[in-house]
Amino acid sequence: MDKERQDKYIEHLQKMIRIETVSDPDCGSSAENFAEFRALLWELFPALKEVCELREFDGALLLKWKGSDPTRMPVLFMNHYDVVPARAEDWKHPPFAAEIAEGKIWGRGTLDDKGGLWAMFEAANELASEGFVPAADIWFEADSTEETFGTGAQAVASWMQEQGMRFGMVLDEGGDIVREPISGAKGTFAMIGVGEKSVVNLKFTARSSGGHASTPEKNTPLARLGKFMAYVDRHQVFDVDMPQPVAEMLKILGQYMGRTGKVLDRAGKRGKALARMLPALSPAAGAMVSTTIAFTMCGGGEAVNVIPSEAWVIGDMRCSHHQGQESSIKAITKIARKFGLETEVIQREPESRLSDFRGNAFLLVRQAVKTCVPGVDDCTPYIMTGGSDARFFDKLSDQCIRFLPFTIDADQLDSIHGINECVSTDTLVPAVDYYRFLYQHV
Ligand SMILES: [Zn+2]
Repeated sequence: MDKERQDKYIEHLQKMIRIETVSDPDCGSSAENFAEFRALLWELFPALKEVCELREFDGALLLKWKGSDPTRMPVLFMNHYDVVPARAEDWKHPPFAAEIAEGKIWGRGTLDDKGGLWAMFEAANELASEGFVPAADIWFEADSTEETFGTGAQAVASWMQEQGMRFGMVLDEGGDIVREPISGAKGTFAMIGVGEKSVVNLKFTARSSGGHASTPEKNTPLARLGKFMAYVDRHQVFDVDMPQPVAEMLKILGQYMGRTGKVLDRAGKRGKALARMLPALSPAAGAMVSTTIAFTMCGGGEAVNVIPSEAWVIGDMRCSHHQGQESSIKAITKIARKFGLETEVIQREPESRLSDFRGNAFLLVRQAVKTCVPGVDDCTPYIMTGGSDARFFDKLSDQCIRFLPFTIDADQLDSIHGINECVSTDTLVPAVDYYRFLYQHV
């Protein structure tokens, strides 16, 4: 029975992977590809289309599946169908062929995020064809611009705000089920995202009167930028704190870590001291306890023998909830000024709140994982350091959870936005069961 289901699921997901829906300002897929993908959805999931009201916002799909109990708060499920580019020559299997090998389907989007979209719709389509009606109104959103600017999701969110809508919970992509998420935590854990850091991109500029390279003065623009970056690299320039969900995560993972775990178990009480040690224990966990900045692009100078009159570097800053954007910008600007640099904010994403990991949405997701996904030792909250469309829905719900029910290994985690992205075929049936469970309990 499961084998039969799995074969059908593989076929459906393969079809979704094979239509290239790359959203990229430089090498994006054509509008026809995106339209073809939307048409494929209704070919694969006709019963769902039948029971839903359908709206479209700039390529973002919005569906409403009417519930039977108007006193319940509606819920929103989201996943996106655009993907990031893939260079075929780097991959073991072509990125848009959805080949099967080593028990996996290989292709761009298998994990991020057509896999999630497929499971979300497949489960709903099954239930709809069985005549099931959910208690609460269930809304589905599928964006086609998540990997670029999220304009589709923003348009949907603004429309919902105009309608005065509120959701009991919002469930988007995010964490997965992983083995040993921090070194030494022996077990398999569902990493359930309860929030995400917010992004600010900054440009730091150094200026001078220029001059010939044969008679250099000290502190030329490039030297100042270099000193600034080295300083930021070596010092903790942002506030370190232990957010509650991270303390809870360390407490849960600590139970699987022997003696080190006993220290982590007291994370709640030893907050700051432990937070300072975290980056050494795990860079991923370290990024959850403070704002971070990474220098990603630079420029300046046009000739080998001329000192540039202007040089710049871009910093990608991810702001913690406890420090926030304004204070993080202030902190880095102050340091930049010491090195004679000007600071300019070139882009910022909306800030969103942390959801309560003792709230209904988190508890329901945890219950769904425990009931439907085999081999999971525990479920834990965590803070996402990357972004998701859920940030645009912050004003529409107090509980925005970011999670997908796929069990993945370290290589698969690296393959997201990297090479050789793939999903294991034996995770497909549990993923559909997970969504079915949620729809039956909202
Ligand atoms: Zn994604």
